[in-house]
Amino acid sequence: MSVDISDIRSLVASQDDWRQRQTINLIASENVQSAAVRDIQNSDFMARYAEGHPNQGDQINRYYQGTQYIDRLETMAREELLALARCRQADVRPISGNAANTAIALGYLRAGDPVIVNSTPAGGHISHNTIGVFGRRIQTRGASLNLESDKAIPLHYLPLSEDHYHVDVPKSLDLIERAAPRLVVLGKSLFLFPEPVRELAALCREKGIPILYDGAHVLGLILGGQFQDPWREGAAWVTASTHKTFPGPQRGVILADLNEADEKRYWPAANRGVFPGSSSNHHLHSLPGLLVAIREMKQHAQAYAAQIVANAQALGRALDDAGIAVEARDFGYTRSHQLAVNVAAHGGGVAVAQRLEANDIIVNYNLLPTDTEPRNPSGLRIGVQEMTRYGMREADMQDLAGLIADAIRNKAVKDAVHALRQRFDTVQYV
Ligand SMILES: *Cc1c(COP(=O)(O)O)cnc(C)c1O
Repeated sequence: MSVDISDIRSLVASQDDWRQRQTINLIASENVQSAAVRDIQNSDFMARYAEGHPNQGDQINRYYQGTQYIDRLETMAREELLALARCRQADVRPISGNAANTAIALGYLRAGDPVIVNSTPAGGHISHNTIGVFGRRIQTRGASLNLESDKAIPLHYLPLSEDHYHVDVPKSLDLIERAAPRLVVLGKSLFLFPEPVRELAALCREKGIPILYDGAHVLGLILGGQFQDPWREGAAWVTASTHKTFPGPQRGVILADLNEADEKRYWPAANRGVFPGSSSNHHLHSLPGLLVAIREMKQHAQAYAAQIVANAQALGRALDDAGIAVEARDFGYTRSHQLAVNVAAHGGGVAVAQRLEANDIIVNYNLLPTDTEPRNPSGLRIGVQEMTRYGMREADMQDLAGLIADAIRNKAVKDAVHALRQRFDTVQYV
């Protein structure tokens, strides 16, 4: 008799039904994958190992036999991603964005190296921070993760301009002069506006400091020509997740466009940081799906990314018109897939996110740059990329804003949420 798994199947089916048919998902770090991406994950690839790089002709780069089809797919994924991003170096093996950052930290940094990053309230990712991989990597024994301490690790935060959503370029140039970092990390998790890569790259280049651009959230927008072009603006490496605005399976990538001299300087750190650094086998079941998503983006990235940004801006305006405090109004709310909303007046981020969930609108609570109490975030982070994939446009953002505003004010809107959701049941841009 085979093992009883009916309860497992039932929970998975409930998840599929709830999150794919009933809820309006506005989590900014998620996306819906195409049927092709989903279906192709269920294969023999999930049972296999492929460490190192694909074999090439007689040249043996793998540590295991039996990889001929894996080698072909991995080579295709790398080459087709290089063409899509117009880059010269790519590593498709990191198993997530955090693993891609870990690879750079392991490969390039040593204990005691000064690093400049975005702080958590400014939107920086946990991996950038004291307790994340960059903070831990530069920590010498005895050095404190408390940056107020005299013995603090040499982690520095990018200064922000008065609006809190842009890096202060003159102050950052000054900090780079004073701190003489080994690495500058740009990019973040609460990510409304492009980073000043070009503005910082000139000084960094003069001083031999590479910029890591963490594009985990915005890779899909960048490839669609809608955000910024970090490679041409001067970033040494771009790390990213492949499942946020890039609509693929959960993985990570590192992409660079380095000339020969810089490739020698900066690419080995990425290569060795990925393997054997932050991964051995690289979760092969999701590799074919990555290639499918690359093909989808090759065809649709421009239209998809443009619609995302138009939707995010339309939702920002509509929420603002409905009396909800959308951040960064003076700058048109956003240039990405995200909005930051201040709900301090409605009970704070945690309570409001729960209220929305009770109405099947899924968002996450978030620290805002002006928050001082990490346990009491006053914000919500909202991302429109998934509902854009389902075909929503600017006019639908008006309807959505009404439902969000009502739910924030404690009105029951679940039935109306389901009615709106049901009009968008097919994944577009595939
Ligand atoms: C999400 C995120 C990551 C981590 O990505 P995972 O794929 O979840 O490991 C890294 N950096 C930033 C800025 C992120 O927002």
